[in-house]
Amino acid sequence: MAEKTLKDAFHETLKDVYYAEKQSVKALKKSAKAAKTPDLKEAFTRHAEESAMQVERLVQVFEILGKSARGKTCEAMQGLTAEMEEDLEDFGDTEAADDVLIGCAQAIEHYEIARYGLLKTWARKLGLAEAERLLDETLEEEKRTDLLLTQIAEGLDGPGDDEDGGEETAEVEKAVPRRALGGKKAKA
Ligand code: FE
Ligand code: FE
Ligand code: FE
Repeated sequence: MAEKTLKDAFHETLKDVYYAEKQSVKALKKSAKAAKTPDLKEAFTRHAEESAMQVERLVQVFEILGKSARGKTCEAMQGLTAEMEEDLEDFGDTEAADDVLIGCAQAIEHYEIARYGLLKTWARKLGLAEAERLLDETLEEEKRTDLLLTQIAEGLDGPGDDEDGGEETAEVEKAVPRRALGGKKAKA
């Protein structure tokens, strides 16, 4: 059996991330439905669309490798989405619902950031410049989403607040550019 190379590891990880990204689209759509705060609903809806583009970018990276786009079960993402289901059952009807949803979504974003960061580094080491560019584009979207979710969470009312937190969440719109959607508007 031929010795395995970094390029093989790259291909295997790409399959893992391809599966994970498709799962994340489903999780985001579900989160958009479950979210109560309009800003959060919109953030999830937008990132679901962005993620569909990210899946397409991964297909392009498979093409660069000369491989067909095929996923393989990512146990980490399965675990994260299973935790999300459980949290939705436990907290979906409570005042903590949006906070808990954000927590689940950020766990997913952090996994994605770890994986895309890795793939980007490996693409560079393998001299796959176009793949590196595509992976970096996605990596930046994941980082922006993570930041946006933190900002929304900070703007959400806590049990100790008396009035609304509307001002803070309005700031979020300015903090994160819309250009990542490539001008396409959410169908909502
Ligand atoms: Fe993603
Ligand atoms: Fe994985
Ligand atoms: Fe994401």
